[in-house]
Amino acid sequence: MSFELDVHTHTIASGHAYGTLTEMAKEAAARGLKLLGITEHSHCMPGTCNDLYFVNLRVVPREMFGIRLMLGAELNIMDYEGAVDLPDRIIDRLDLRIASIHTNLYRVGTTQQNTAAVLGAMKNPKIDIIGHPDDGNCPLDYEQIVRASKEYHTLLEINNNSMRMPSRKNARENITVILNLCKKYDVPVIMNSDAHFMTDIANTDHSMPVVEQTDFPKELILNYSVEKFEAYIAENRAKEKESGK
Ligand SMILES: [Zn+2]
Ligand SMILES: [Zn+2]
Repeated sequence: MSFELDVHTHTIASGHAYGTLTEMAKEAAARGLKLLGITEHSHCMPGTCNDLYFVNLRVVPREMFGIRLMLGAELNIMDYEGAVDLPDRIIDRLDLRIASIHTNLYRVGTTQQNTAAVLGAMKNPKIDIIGHPDDGNCPLDYEQIVRASKEYHTLLEINNNSMRMPSRKNARENITVILNLCKKYDVPVIMNSDAHFMTDIANTDHSMPVVEQTDFPKELILNYSVEKFEAYIAENRAKEKESGK
């Protein structure tokens, strides 16, 4: 069984990534994926595209080289309420919405404040995934976060990139904690490469060993089935509509 999807990647539009959208899609197809998600950084990240980039994504076909493309954003969580840095009218146009804390843009608070920030984003019916909730520089209460993932139907990401970034602290330990809690509460996760170049698409060289060590059930990893992942996102859109937001 192999992965059918990787839904957190960046292109040159993000300012510090190096492949074009076409190159990324082509490589994802060559690697046997069925779905690639491209999620550029939103505007508070230095050097990334402006909001108009997201507004105009409709011009890009959602199928290239025989695979499905989902185009979205990795939004920045900006405060302890979980506010994100794109207006709703732009988020509404995105196929995929990841919200992440980046410590260059967010003032790290107490564990309680940081947890409130992530919970705020999880409660936002427009957000699908919390990106790399594993950075020990920004401590979180994982028990609360994992329970919220189930309650608010927002995926937690197991980010391959985090474990090799020296700037992120205790990522491996924190990912172990997250996986063990997800196993305990029967909560699905999404494993993403966070690729900033084609060669890194669908890379799990750091994350898979942790998944294996924790004996994490395959049924709870959404990457094995496009159908399961799409159903998860469709449920989010239905909930969003219901919420009237
Ligand atoms: Zn990020
Ligand atoms: Zn990213």
